Amino acid sequence: MVTDNAPQSATGLLRGTPVVAGVVYGPVQVVRTDLDPAAVAAFAAGPQPEGDDAIAAYDAAVDKVAAGFLARSEAAHGSAAEVLAASGKLTRDRGLRTMVRKNIADGHSLLEAIDAAVGHFAEMFAKMGGLMAERVTDLHDIRKRIIAHLIGVSEPGIPVPEVPSVLVAEDLAPADSAGLRPELVAALVMEKGGATSHTAIIARQLAIPCIVGVAGALGLPAGQRVLVDGAAGIIDPAAEPQDAERKVAASIAEREAQEKWTGPATTADGAPVKLLANVADPASAEKAAKTPVEGVGLFRTELAFLKSTEEPSVAEQADLYEGVLRPFVEAGAFHVVTRTLDAGSDKPIAYATIEGEENPALGVRGYRLTYDKPGLLDHQLDALKIAGERVGIQPWVMAPMIATPDEARDFAKKAHDRGLKAGVMIEIPSAALLADRIVEQVDFLSIGTNDLTQYTMAADRMATDLAHLTDPWQPAVLQLVAMTAAAGKRADKPVGVCGEAAADPLLACVLVGMGITSLSMAAASVKAVGAQLSRVTFDQCVKAAEVTVDMISPANAREAARAVLID
Ligand code: PEP
Ligand code: MG
Repeated sequence: MVTDNAPQSATGLLRGTPVVAGVVYGPVQVVRTDLDPAAVAAFAAGPQPEGDDAIAAYDAAVDKVAAGFLARSEAAHGSAAEVLAASGKLTRDRGLRTMVRKNIADGHSLLEAIDAAVGHFAEMFAKMGGLMAERVTDLHDIRKRIIAHLIGVSEPGIPVPEVPSVLVAEDLAPADSAGLRPELVAALVMEKGGATSHTAIIARQLAIPCIVGVAGALGLPAGQRVLVDGAAGIIDPAAEPQDAERKVAASIAEREAQEKWTGPATTADGAPVKLLANVADPASAEKAAKTPVEGVGLFRTELAFLKSTEEPSVAEQADLYEGVLRPFVEAGAFHVVTRTLDAGSDKPIAYATIEGEENPALGVRGYRLTYDKPGLLDHQLDALKIAGERVGIQPWVMAPMIATPDEARDFAKKAHDRGLKAGVMIEIPSAALLADRIVEQVDFLSIGTNDLTQYTMAADRMATDLAHLTDPWQPAVLQLVAMTAAAGKRADKPVGVCGEAAADPLLACVLVGMGITSLSMAAASVKAVGAQLSRVTFDQCVKAAEVTVDMISPANAREAARAVLID
């Protein structure tokens, strides 16, 4: 067994969390996005504006920074445009301005006032966790840009590389990552950040191979050619050029093969694997129904209600659910799993979430909302029944955040009373440990590896500094998944995976080897997973599952699986 779990191994390899697959060999460009400390010190030592002049100078700098974000947002599209527009809004945040003004009134210099106000909000966001914690990087970036205008230097940013390069940084500000040019940025290697950081989101959108959370990355010498393997999460600074070029060519061939894969998914020896889509609304369902999936494994209903202040009526909900079911039924895919409201924690919904909880990730979220508001669940199930009748299928429905067999039984009864197929998500370690007793109560299980990892490792899934813990390759998580799959096999009932783990081509093979019957993922990942499954036998998957759960770290587990499935 390999025991090395340090980020930088004795071989000189650097490791991090893989985000976007692809092998790249190119020169390092180290990006430092800090302001020049000498310029800041010179400004701080001189006479700074005071009172109303200080707040006027702040407002003028804010206007320039916000205008810059707006211009970049208009030039970008997709999630990049959204990220930039959100930064523009945050720049003009009234709470931030009020605190800067107060700090100035309390006698602080303008720079001190800004630093203290940003520090206050950054701490508050970090404490709130979840999506808010992700905004801390944005806040610090905004601070640097405002100060750059005050002291009269250019806003910090990424210099445009002259040749396609491996961009290495601590983490990129949204404004920088959203403006990346894929033709010049061959790969991204970030010292910080997790799989849900802005850099990761943008890298996925731009399809730039990317690894985050790489300890020691900033130590890579500028200009040196390094080999980046985005799927394995490995950077090799000492790669031999010929070997590196061979691996790059193989990766290009792999991408071409993926494009040609059309499904349905089987292993090389013909074992079928159901590949399903994760969808959020009728628009994403329309798109996903055109890809080689056999249905939907996770319709996250709460995402359609994030902005609703009142509970939508049963009729409104029925229309929405029908909009998701119909494109699949018309494509001949009748397996569509709707998840009941998973409100709370990182997905607050005005009409459902309980305000002011000390620890919302462990609070009244998901199925627990029905303790006090059973109507929420009843109305969803009524609406789903209507939608199923309209399109002529029996909908599958599952509840999130189930902790006990009793909860599973109560939920299944309500769903069965309406003629729906009933399942529950396995996202809490207690549910995985009692999977045998939970599966007795329902028709199917679906493992949410994102939350199962969060709760198994006691690590906030959004905390970028904990990305090494919130890795679904953590052997403890894999063991709980294997236990759940085994319970499904004993009961002869389907067990799917609908967390991010299903979208990792290598891990998908491991899951199939454990006995997982369906894999549900963002439509963009389907071809990569399908193509990988088509290259391995079912026995290889079983072997990979066996060796992986025995490992002691995610890196070891990945390597062990690769050895069986690829090398
Ligand atoms: C999960 O937890 O893995 C899951 C699929 O649910 P969500 O990501 O929506 O919490
Ligand atoms: Mg979840």
